[in-house]
Amino acid sequence: MPETTRFAPSPTGYLHLGHAYSALFAARAAGPGGRFLLRIEDIDPTRCRPEYTTAILEDLAWLGLRWEESVRVQSEHFADYRAALDRLDGAGLLYPCFCTRAAIQAEIARSGEAPHGPDGLLYPGTCRHLSPAERARCMAAGTPYALRLDMARASADLGDLAWSDGARGEIQATPQAFGDVVLARKETPASYHLAVTVDDALQGVTLVTRGEDLFAATHVHRLLQALLGLPTPRYHHHALLLSAEGKRLAKRDRAATLRDLRAAGKTAAEVRTMAGIKG
Ligand code: GLU
Repeated sequence: MPETTRFAPSPTGYLHLGHAYSALFAARAAGPGGRFLLRIEDIDPTRCRPEYTTAILEDLAWLGLRWEESVRVQSEHFADYRAALDRLDGAGLLYPCFCTRAAIQAEIARSGEAPHGPDGLLYPGTCRHLSPAERARCMAAGTPYALRLDMARASADLGDLAWSDGARGEIQATPQAFGDVVLARKETPASYHLAVTVDDALQGVTLVTRGEDLFAATHVHRLLQALLGLPTPRYHHHALLLSAEGKRLAKRDRAATLRDLRAAGKTAAEVRTMAGIKG
């Protein structure tokens, strides 16, 4: 069956062999007559750089990939994420969180407990309990804030949420493990969770393929789909390509970047084979 798939890199560094594998995997998963899309996930201006976007497009084209135009660049679509936030806010599911990182650490230390979720330490919910007057005071004082999802409220009454995963079968979503996730910040007006969920729906993606390091995040994405009335695509979380030493490849592993492999004289066909995709 033809699918609409996508590759969605963040321009925070040069692409390496692991990205090549993921991109080729997605392109192949589209199947004959399917659509393969490219999306640049550059919502975090503190980590993303335009020169990496240029390099990503160049490297993927060199690798022999062709995608449907136009490329969706997330930083050009903040209005779409704002609309989703407004909808969640209208349903009373968001609250402003004025806590700094240090304040969160101090609160956790005070409580003597440090529960963890898939994204790290769980937010202890301090600002969920602020009164409207306290919120108004912090806002008026111009204190920077993040918007958090009230997870207990958001996940109540939704019934069973599940998704179908090509690698693992039918998965029951349990987003509660993430606690009150951040959906927007001052410097990043949409979080990864929000932007990816909105975009996969807006772009009509039918099969999301990505590394298994993002498997846990799908619990949150499934919840957001339910809250925002968006369709649920099918997923396939693929294994990560490892280095010869058995370690996960990272953008800082210079030797494995597609640029360096090309500069060292490798052909695109050779790199595709190194990434484990033949033909
Ligand atoms: N932008 C994410 C990354 O580079 C991938 C997002 C996704 O495929 O859902 O890790």
